[in-house]
Amino acid sequence: MRICGLEEQIHVIDNKVTVEEIIKDIVRTKEISDPFYIFDVGDLVDKIRIWQQKLPRIKPFYAVKCNDNSLVLETLAAFGTNFDCASKAEIKKVLDLGVNPSRIIFANPAKMTSHIKYAMSQCVDLTTFDNELELYKIKSIHPSCNLVIRIRCDATETQCPLGIKYGCDPLTEAPALMSLARDLGLSVVGVSFHVGSGCNEPAAFRRAIAASAAIFRLAQQLGFMNMYLLNIGGGFPGNKNTSLDKIADIVNDALNEWFPPNNGVTIIAEPGRFFVASAFTLSTKIHSIKKRSNDQNHIMYFINDGVYGSFNSILYDHSVVVPKPLNDYPMSPISQSSIWGPTCDGLDQVVDSVNMPLMKMGDWITFEDMGAYTIPVASTFNGFPLPKVFAVANRSIWQKLKNLMPISEDHFTTVPIVATIKMVRSESSDDEEWDDNDL
Ligand code: PLP
Repeated sequence: MRICGLEEQIHVIDNKVTVEEIIKDIVRTKEISDPFYIFDVGDLVDKIRIWQQKLPRIKPFYAVKCNDNSLVLETLAAFGTNFDCASKAEIKKVLDLGVNPSRIIFANPAKMTSHIKYAMSQCVDLTTFDNELELYKIKSIHPSCNLVIRIRCDATETQCPLGIKYGCDPLTEAPALMSLARDLGLSVVGVSFHVGSGCNEPAAFRRAIAASAAIFRLAQQLGFMNMYLLNIGGGFPGNKNTSLDKIADIVNDALNEWFPPNNGVTIIAEPGRFFVASAFTLSTKIHSIKKRSNDQNHIMYFINDGVYGSFNSILYDHSVVVPKPLNDYPMSPISQSSIWGPTCDGLDQVVDSVNMPLMKMGDWITFEDMGAYTIPVASTFNGFPLPKVFAVANRSIWQKLKNLMPISEDHFTTVPIVATIKMVRSESSDDEEWDDNDL
């Protein structure tokens, strides 16, 4: 595999340094007034390992839409993760890393013809469909493409429901679609679903896997001889205080029941937020403070990122963000507060009501779990810049990446971001040794 090079450099840090300490170093020693992210590459690598431990039968195809930061994609590619792309540009971005097209699923059931043409020209030959017109388009543009029917199976509780837009009804629509695909001579190879992003009803995976098994039986009756793929989509939690365990147990049990090992079906998934949510911490700076006009006890803090930037996730991803003052304020009274973004729009509110110590202009507020559905959607509305990303990794992760990515050492920097340099340079690193068998 050829990796074209890192857009961001990785700053090597000592194992004992926390993200909070790195942020403190940056704001203390760098002339920085714009918001910035710390991308903890080790957190992403941990997630790869957790996925392999908890869902060993399922090959992840990372949903690029969730966070298309180049280093995220390169790290995932280097560790063997495949990719779910929704558009020509996403496919190109992944291919430009040197990833083989066989590692991509074009998982958009309603594709533009120019994007299908591009996929064909690049030998991306696995895609999803959920309607008749899509089948006719594929027949005329990319007839040899392998197709995966996307069925609808919604979780009762999700952060972002998707069934309202995608997925055919497995009982009332799928049979006719499968018959049409057969009549058109197309190659249907599998079934996919997405229970909804941020799934809060793990049992939905069981229902969806059972429904998929029924489609496999239907396909057999219709004479499809190459049904080899089950794609269980996304919906897995990614924040720091969440766990994959519940969903993993349900999924593994359901797979054993309907798609037991050695039955010839490859199982894949399209996790997005699971991989990246917790790896990104956002730091924002207070540039203005006032009291609410109708409540002099309520403090309004204005910070340099808002809902038109990173916090677009509040509107589009229905995320709830948790502010954390970077410094300690042990003697400070606690006041009811709200936090606002920098644009002139009244909608630009980050936190409606929260108890905070009394902070001052120039102080910083951090937000954890900011890696999913933030960066790719952010705009520079009103002229406010997008946050810079500082990528950090401890020595063992860094070494591992260097070994996996056949790139020049220049792409990494052994000079850490700031004052952590002393710790990094010390030879007495107590980083855990990496074992290739871990991954
Ligand atoms: N696959 C598809 C087709 C999607 O639309 C999405 C999210 O919208 C994902 C995967 C990723 O979902 P999640 O971030 O919940 O894992």
